Amino acid sequence: MDSVRAESVSKEYVLGKQRVKALSNVNLTVGEGEFLAIAGPSGSGKSTLLNLIGCLDVPTSGKIFIRDQDVGGKTQDELADLRAATIGFIFQTFNLLPVLSAVENIEYPLLNARGVAREERRERVQHYLAMVGLEKFARHRPNELSGIHPAIVLADEPTANLDHKTGESILQLMREINRAQGTTFIFSTHDPRVMELAGRVVRMQDGEMLP
Ligand code: ADP
Ligand code: MG
Repeated sequence: MDSVRAESVSKEYVLGKQRVKALSNVNLTVGEGEFLAIAGPSGSGKSTLLNLIGCLDVPTSGKIFIRDQDVGGKTQDELADLRAATIGFIFQTFNLLPVLSAVENIEYPLLNARGVAREERRERVQHYLAMVGLEKFARHRPNELSGIHPAIVLADEPTANLDHKTGESILQLMREINRAQGTTFIFSTHDPRVMELAGRVVRMQDGEMLP
């Protein structure tokens, strides 16, 4: 099963009498558990593509599949359900709530395997939570948080407004959740240092996916 598939996706915005072609025939296949960066300069179509993948907007032509389901034929209610059950968003405002349940769970599968002491493990998770201002959630039990456990997390330039050190920590946290839980991450960036942390990088320019 593919996590996300875009087939010949185009998007035009209508601005008054003008049409702005934001995406042209974009094809993209993202496997389950990928850690994918969409790179490209400002205006290249990254946000537009993420919005379409997140079912926040619909393509002018072409198809979006989420976990092999064509989202084109779905009603608004069905789309809302699909989003709620499957997709988490991290916006530039840097809201990590969608992956919160994952944050709790990174402790065991991940750090235990590396032989890190329990205390250090807790401190590390606490550190991450504090970093994103969510330390008050640290004591929530997983079942209280189980409602927010997306298979796919979309992040539109998650590090754009951060200093390099904080940005890298956020990427590292995303990566740990990705590894521990198999969560698919798709994030946009124009920062070469962020691209280096990606499992795979695809590049966009002028609304097209570069080969
Ligand atoms: P990026 O995220 O890579 O900066 P965008 O997807 O935001 O690129 O934008 C791609 C193109 O579509 C740009 O030319 C932009 O001006 C245009 N665009 C984006 N959103 C809108 C909109 N809501 N209305 C009109 N044009 C838009
Ligand atoms: Mg953008």
